[in-house]
Amino acid sequence: MNLMLDITLLAVILVLSAALQTVAAIIAMRQVGKVDDHYRMAWLIVALALVLMVERRMVPLWRHIDAGEVSSMMDALFGMAISACMVAGVYGVTELITGLKSRADTDELTGLANRRAILQSVNTEIQRAMRTQRPIAFLMCDLDHFKLVNDTHGHIAGDMVLQGIARIALANFRKIDTVGRLGGEEFLVVLPESNQDEARAAAERFRRAVAAHKFAVGEQRIEITISIGVFVPDTVTHPVTVQNVLDATDKALYAAKNGGRNQVIVQG
Ligand code: GH3
Ligand code: MG
Ligand code: MG
Repeated sequence: MNLMLDITLLAVILVLSAALQTVAAIIAMRQVGKVDDHYRMAWLIVALALVLMVERRMVPLWRHIDAGEVSSMMDALFGMAISACMVAGVYGVTELITGLKSRADTDELTGLANRRAILQSVNTEIQRAMRTQRPIAFLMCDLDHFKLVNDTHGHIAGDMVLQGIARIALANFRKIDTVGRLGGEEFLVVLPESNQDEARAAAERFRRAVAAHKFAVGEQRIEITISIGVFVPDTVTHPVTVQNVLDATDKALYAAKNGGRNQVIVQG
């Protein structure tokens, strides 16, 4: 077998593997819901590589090098297209991993951080607050008489209310805050750089926004209230753990429920 044939075979394998890699990248991007533009671009790259391959009539990239000739412009483009396919493949896999990770951190119903992610966030922000000696606050929020909403309007209506609560929360809190669904109708919010007054004000604003909202349930509009327990630890004098945060916010929330619900109680 002559050298020319070997190189031709190599070029074909290279193009096919690059094309396959790009197709895999496209599928990966689709899986994680990447915007159309990304995979349209990837398809363009595959098409370009294939067109160039046909144009060169399966003649390998290094056809002329053997004979000591300078490779043509088309050969250079061909090489670039293959490289682009490879890059697209790596990009697609990276996107896939990022997408899967974000899926693992997201609560499916509300799009908020899920239990695992919000507890991770609590831990990270506690460490940061202790290191930088900056204030930090946590809110535990629980819908009032939510079982009644399910019993009266059905579970799907209840789910829609939970989604509405998530939207209000995202509109209410800052970009640096993290809102997560701990489970059921219970939400935890991390407020970095917030002292007691700021945390109380943020919690009150959220409570009022929920109480004022009319949730659409079929033809009806229903109202719901929320109780909030706030904990502002003194990270300078006491080391704080995730468990401390859960216990203290829960205690404050319990006090808010006992106090008649639809209120904010701050635990010092
Ligand atoms: P309280 O004011 O004391 O918090 O009363 P409550 O009815 O909200 O509390 P309880 O813990 O008795 O009931 C919580 C209800 O939340 C029970 C369940 O029907 C409902 N729930 C939990 N998770 C979901 C969910 O994902 N979707 C819906 N629709 N309902 C849920
Ligand atoms: Mg409740
Ligand atoms: Mg509850």
